Amino acid sequence: MKADIKSLLPEEIAEALAEMGEPKYRAKQIFAWLSRGVSSFEEMSDLSKRLRAALEARFFITRPKVIRKQVSQLDGTIKYLWELSDGNAVETVVMRYKHGCTVCISTQVGCRQGCVFCASAIGGLVRNLSPAEMLDEVLFSQRDSGKAISNIVLMGIGEPLDNYEHVIKFLKLVNNSNGMAIGMRHIALSTCGLTEKIDKLAELNLQLTLSVSLHAADDETRARLMPANRGRGVAALVSACRRYFEKTGRRVSFEYAMIDGVNDTPGHARLLAQRARECGAHINLIPLNRVTERAFRPSSRSNLKRFIGILDEHGANSTVRRRLGGDVEASCGQLRKKAAEIGR
Ligand code: SAH
Repeated sequence: MKADIKSLLPEEIAEALAEMGEPKYRAKQIFAWLSRGVSSFEEMSDLSKRLRAALEARFFITRPKVIRKQVSQLDGTIKYLWELSDGNAVETVVMRYKHGCTVCISTQVGCRQGCVFCASAIGGLVRNLSPAEMLDEVLFSQRDSGKAISNIVLMGIGEPLDNYEHVIKFLKLVNNSNGMAIGMRHIALSTCGLTEKIDKLAELNLQLTLSVSLHAADDETRARLMPANRGRGVAALVSACRRYFEKTGRRVSFEYAMIDGVNDTPGHARLLAQRARECGAHINLIPLNRVTERAFRPSSRSNLKRFIGILDEHGANSTVRRRLGGDVEASCGQLRKKAAEIGR
């Protein structure tokens, strides 16, 4: 069985080289080639033929295939559907902002969290993505689109903290100065609120932005929308967010999808404001995006305005997230795993 070389950091490649009786200093060179998206050792033209053959015998290089690429007519957002080596398929979105391009990547094939408003949950979890597969989403989105990626959000399909080890490794790969060198402050990780993993992440003090998908500040509503709330609870989640802020100095964001008649009353707003103040969180309001299989509707414009007014009154900071890629189903909660052969 060959090993996945693109999931290795330079120091791990160096170790492998030492085991092979090769000079360690080649590791950074090899890592840099991989971070440029080469698909064979043959292309690593500054390595000897002998070393290239030795690497070929021990390792493989992942390379996703574009099954479908959709470009939004509204705002230029690009959605990719990639085929992975085992025939599974995941989506990645590239969004253009004034300050550069942000890529939204998937972290799992499917998702086991079961949030009732989200398309990614339909069909459950198939498997975790490897560090290399997540890196490929960034690398090949950049290569194919020709747009320099400056920011990454882990907000595609899957729950990043349910694939904790691979996600941390991916962050180290994409941040490495010999590779894509994307700064941690340019990366945001979103979670449905796996409290115990938030504490583990805080210990690493990575300086990335932590987004927490809250969607309701009371246990009754939240447990109904998000099974992950059961056995954890909002109070424990908010405490974990406060510890994250204290440990890292980085303000947490709350994501709050406004769902008509479900979480958009004045009472919901007051409770949300209180929870946000308790842990210094900033609130991102997202008008709910439609998911064909789901009956939920977005809150009305007037409810949204009233909600924002109450948050303001109670001293909580909020912004409304701009909707991108609406015509190609590239918005929050609309990404889904697909079978490669169908591509839909
Ligand atoms: N599993 C992680 C990463 C996914 S990020 C998490 O839950 O945070 C995707 C974001 O879109 C999450 O905040 C999710 O709750 C939100 N979302 C899901 N379905 C949505 C919908 N129909 N409309 C708006 N936002 C939605």
